Amino acid sequence: MPFYEKEVGTLLDEKKVQARVRELGAEITRDYQGSDLTLVCVLKGSTFFAMDLARAIDLPLEMEFLGVSSYQGGTETTGEVRITTDVSKPMAGKHLLVIEDIIDTGLTMSFLLESLRARHPASLKVASLLEKPSRARTKIQIDYKGFVIDDVFVVGYGLDYGEKYRNLPFIGVMKGK
Ligand code: 5GP
Ligand code: MG
Ligand code: MG
Repeated sequence: MPFYEKEVGTLLDEKKVQARVRELGAEITRDYQGSDLTLVCVLKGSTFFAMDLARAIDLPLEMEFLGVSSYQGGTETTGEVRITTDVSKPMAGKHLLVIEDIIDTGLTMSFLLESLRARHPASLKVASLLEKPSRARTKIQIDYKGFVIDDVFVVGYGLDYGEKYRNLPFIGVMKGK
């Protein structure tokens, strides 16, 4: 029996997640024909999604990584966000696609977009595996969206609970949380 079986229930199984990621990859491939693309992956949660998505995109692309820390009050972000690891080069003139695991209140993405926009990219779009619209505190346009979910705390496929469970191959819900 897998180690997580007692603690985590399945919300979106591996097959569903992989199929949706392939669809998004095909869509991005169509939309970015003829332009250079840079994926800006938000550490750490988006990495599993970003790796699979990048492989589902049939285009030459660059990958950059950006770390943010949001000051958390319990399981909720306060909206105060700080860049802890920045991208490795200037982003001016590049077609940027920010890759996130989940948009919850939207405050982290709102901060990130503002910070990236100030660097004058050629274009700036958002891909997020998950969205919890019931918790939105600011409107974020998600150009490539995997799944819309209810207000539940999810783990797996990059998403953590106390830094654990990121390596589950599916999106799960903590039992009794
Ligand atoms: P926001 O600023 O949109 O409220 O939150 C963004 C970040 O909060 C996400 O990138 C993620 O790290 C964390 N987060 C929000 N909801 C969840 C959730 O259901 N599960 C996990 N593991 N993290 C979440
Ligand atoms: Mg995240
Ligand atoms: Mg986290």
